[in-house]
Amino acid sequence: MDLVAELRALVGDNGVLTGERLAGRVYDKHVGSVAARVLVRPASTEQVSAVLRLCHSRGQPIVPHGGLTGLVYGCSARENEVILSLELLNRIESVDVAGRTLRVQAGVKLQHVQEEAERHNLMFPLDLGARGSATIGGNIATNAGGMRVVRYGMMRNLVLGLEVVLADGTVLQSLNRMLKNNAGYDLKQLFIGSEGTLGVVTRADLRLAARPVSACSAFVACRDFAAMVELLGMLDARLGGQLSAFEALWPEFYELTTTSPARSSPILPYGHGVYALIEALGADADTDRERFERVLSDAMENGLVADAVIAKSEADRNAMWAPREDVFQMDRYGTSHSFDVSLGIADMPRYLEAFHAALHAGFPGARSFVFGHVADGNLHIAVCAGDADVQSIEKCVYEPMRGFSGSISAEHGIGLERKPYLEISRSSAEIATMRALKAALDPRGILNPGKVIDVH
Ligand SMILES: Cc1cc2nc3c(=O)[nH]c(=O)nc-3n(C[C@H](O)[C@H](O)[C@H](O)COP(=O)(O)OP(=O)(O)OC[C@H]3O[C@@H](n4cnc5c(N)ncnc54)[C@H](O)[C@@H]3O)c2cc1C
Repeated sequence: MDLVAELRALVGDNGVLTGERLAGRVYDKHVGSVAARVLVRPASTEQVSAVLRLCHSRGQPIVPHGGLTGLVYGCSARENEVILSLELLNRIESVDVAGRTLRVQAGVKLQHVQEEAERHNLMFPLDLGARGSATIGGNIATNAGGMRVVRYGMMRNLVLGLEVVLADGTVLQSLNRMLKNNAGYDLKQLFIGSEGTLGVVTRADLRLAARPVSACSAFVACRDFAAMVELLGMLDARLGGQLSAFEALWPEFYELTTTSPARSSPILPYGHGVYALIEALGADADTDRERFERVLSDAMENGLVADAVIAKSEADRNAMWAPREDVFQMDRYGTSHSFDVSLGIADMPRYLEAFHAALHAGFPGARSFVFGHVADGNLHIAVCAGDADVQSIEKCVYEPMRGFSGSISAEHGIGLERKPYLEISRSSAEIATMRALKAALDPRGILNPGKVIDVH
């Protein structure tokens, strides 16, 4: 029997898309080339297992797909590859209110998990711009972070247990609702951030948090980066653990996203060294606000904050977030290349100096825009340099990282795009261990081949 017929026998007609039904699906430009001739969408863990068993026996490469929001070509698929979509595994199975956990299938959208938690007066803290499309499986496979990492950590901190199907079809049942489980190796950690190269995530136990009842937000300007870092330390120390977001916007980015054709207008005047968006989530609207205002007023008095606006309403709050989230404004300058790197906060100014020097030496007319979750050590950098070749721009961003022991990927992972630079952030012993893990778990190399590492 040919492969498509065998797949149909396993998952039924509705579970296999070919020809026009496959071609009609829209793929994000960042998925890259999707030449696969068949997409299979199992409706249960057992079906995922059967599909993988079949592919394993045939040495058939298979590429897992979630919501296709990744930006590093982790979902691109060649003609001889099968796409495995998790879209029919789309059920939230249960919520344990007392234990604050939620069990979910991998194809559920992040936003649906957030909404389900809210219905139980709880919160799933992971939040990011792609919430309406990204799936929990994709969030796990890329160890997503988002806006609230400073308080709640990344996906790795929010996953208690996983069900994963291995390359040969074995169902690795590692679901777990306990916070403490030190019975041997914590196998789920292997699959979080593995970008579909070690196993297919089918279900997860997620950790929920109390739902905040107050949100205090402010947009502030600081004279320079050093003052902003000091401010961050002060907020962390004095807000009683409520600091939940601290986003920095460098002047070029702030001006870009608050001038026409962008829809936002400036919140504070231009001309300051750096701007920050601050958010604290708490449990008592009155006292939280009082404390928030007191801390910011002290920060102004001692010169850490040069100017500030505090949101008085939900509309104010949305207006403050709008320039930060309007991340595609740079497209007005032609093709833009986005990077997200990670390094120690104290090293950021020197790293940015080295990056700008490299960029302007190679591309004198290039524009760059910097913003990011600085409290997590995460900088987003966007570069517009006409039709300059991508590799040369990548080198300007990644090469200076060598001097700072930073990471070439704070989010999204490695995929295909960042693979040539992995050795900047990982030692040869680490990469060799990654290869050993890949060989042990996927000896025939069928899972998302070519992504993250080359096997040989
Ligand atoms: C507008 C926007 C804002 C973003 N903001 C942030 C941010 O602030 N912080 C952050 O960390 N990230 C951010 N991201 C990236 C985002 O976290 C990832 O794109 C998302 O988590 C991937 O989910 P997905 O379902 O779209 O996965 P996909 O893009 O479909 O897949 C991503 C990778 O995971 C693999 N994969 C998918 N599902 C599974 C599965 N069930 N089992 C095994 N492997 C699987 C795929 O093969 C691929 O390698 C942003 C992305 C966008 C577009």
